[in-house]
Amino acid sequence: MDLMYVSTRDSRVRLTASQAILKGLAEDGGLFVPERIPKLPVSLEELSGMSYQETACAVMREFLTDFTGEELKGCVEKAYDDKFDTEEIAPLTEACGAYYLELFHGSTIAFKDMALSILPHLLTVSAKKNGVKNEIVILTATSGDTGKAAMAGFADVPGTKIVVFYPKNGVSPIQEKQMLTQKGDNPLVAGIHGNFDQAQTGVKQMLNDPAFAAQMDAAGYQFSSANSINIGRLVPQIVYYVYAYAKLRANGAVCDEPVNVVVPTGNFGNILAAFYAKCMGLPIGKLICASNENKVLTDFFHTGVYDRNREFVLTDSPSMDILISSNLERLIYRIAEEDSDMNKRLMAELADAGRYEVTSGMRGRLKDFYGNYATEQETADTIRRLCEDCGYVIDTHTAVAACVYEKYKKDTGDRDTKTIIASTASPFKFTRSVMKAIDGRYDGMDDFELVDELAKIAGRPEPLAVKELRTAQVRHNTVCNVSEMPDVVRHFLGV
Ligand SMILES: *Cc1c(COP(=O)(O)O)cnc(C)c1O
Repeated sequence: MDLMYVSTRDSRVRLTASQAILKGLAEDGGLFVPERIPKLPVSLEELSGMSYQETACAVMREFLTDFTGEELKGCVEKAYDDKFDTEEIAPLTEACGAYYLELFHGSTIAFKDMALSILPHLLTVSAKKNGVKNEIVILTATSGDTGKAAMAGFADVPGTKIVVFYPKNGVSPIQEKQMLTQKGDNPLVAGIHGNFDQAQTGVKQMLNDPAFAAQMDAAGYQFSSANSINIGRLVPQIVYYVYAYAKLRANGAVCDEPVNVVVPTGNFGNILAAFYAKCMGLPIGKLICASNENKVLTDFFHTGVYDRNREFVLTDSPSMDILISSNLERLIYRIAEEDSDMNKRLMAELADAGRYEVTSGMRGRLKDFYGNYATEQETADTIRRLCEDCGYVIDTHTAVAACVYEKYKKDTGDRDTKTIIASTASPFKFTRSVMKAIDGRYDGMDDFELVDELAKIAGRPEPLAVKELRTAQVRHNTVCNVSEMPDVVRHFLGV
C-alpha cells in the first residue's frame, strides 16, 4: 500500500507522493506531510558501505512509494552526477571539534542544490505518472540561494517554465549576479520591492488562487513550487543526514550512539529533514536550531510563542532573513499529534495577528530541539576564530550554526556528544562578508579581488560557479512591486 500525504490543515485530504509533488501546496493552504514516517529500511552497518546515490535510493524509496525503483534510480543518477565537484557529493570535514557536513559542492555552491538537482526529475516523472498534459510553471520565492539552484535544476527541462522572485535589496552581490545571468529560455527572474516573507506570501497566494489556476489551465499551464513547502524538496534532504551518520560510523568516529545536529535555519526545511531522519530511527540526539538576528525561532523554542511582529533585520546571512518559517507548520502539526484543526487554527492566528502560542502539551513534544541565535558580531568573530585556530574558512550561515553550537555546549554542558554542523554554503558565495570578518583591511577590494584572496586563505580553488560569473552576461532586469507579482507571471507566459 502506498504511503499517502495529507494536508496539515485537513488530514482528510490524501494524495500519493507524486500527486503531492505536482501540487506543491494543498488547496487549503496546508503543507503535505507523510501520514507516517517510515523506518530506515536497512541497518546502519549496511548504510555505512553505501555511496551517496545508493543511500538516496534506499531512503527516498520509503517515502516516494508510488515511484518504481527504476524511476527513482533514474532521478538519482541524473541529479547526483558530475555537477557536483566531489564524488562523495556531501563530504564531512572535521574542524575545531565538530564535523562540518559540506552541502555546497553542487552547481550553485549552496545546499539548495542537494534537493533542487533532483526535484525537476521527480516532477517530470510525477507529471507522466499522473497524465498531466499542461506545461508546469514553477513559482519560487528566494532569499537568495533557492532561486539560482532552482533555475539551474530546471534550466531547459522540457515541459517546464520557472519564475523566481527575490528581494531586490536583500541578497548578496554574488547571489544576485548568479541569478541575473541565468541562461535558457524557460526562466524568468524578478526582483521585488519587498523582503523574502513578502515574496513567499505572494507566491503562496498565486499557488492558492483558484481563479488564477483556471486561467492558467485554459492556457495550458499549471503551477507548482520549488520552495521547501514542496515535499519533493524535503525528502531528498533527509538523505544527507543518513549518509553523514553512516560515514562517521564507517570512519570509526561513532558506533551507533546519537550525534547532535546543528542547522543554520531560515524556512525550517533543512532542520525538519534532520528531524524526519531522527524519526526514521537515525541516532540523532539534539536538533540544534541556529538563527541569526531574525530570531523568531529561538524565541519560539524558549517560550512556545511564535511572534513575527518584530523588525525585519537584513544580515550577512541573508538566506536566513526570514520571519515566517513555512516548514515549522509541519512540526506544529506533528506536536499537535496530527490534529489538523488545531494546526489550522494556529496558522489562521499567524495570518491574522502574526502570532500564536502552542499548548503546554505541544511544548513538551519539542524537547528534541534546542534553539539559539548569533548576532552579526558573533558570527563574524566565529569565522575569524575558525580560520585562525583551524585554518578552516566557513560562510556566514554556517558560522551562525558554529556560534550557536558553542552556546549550546556552554548552556547544557553537553561537550562530548559528536556533532554534525550543516555547512550550507561555500564561503565563496558570501566572499565580501567572509573576508570582512577575517580582516577589516579587505574592505576596499572589488568582489573578484576578494575571491582571489579567499582562495589563498582557504587553500581551495575558486569554484566554477564563481569563475563563470567573472564573464557572464546579465540577462534579466525585471523589478516589480509585491502587488504586481501575478502580472509579471501573466506577462511572461503571454496569458
Ligand atoms: C536556504 C538556506 C538556509 C536556510 O535553510 P532552511 O531550510 O530554509 O531553514 C541556510 N543557509 C543557506 C546558505 C541557505 O541557502
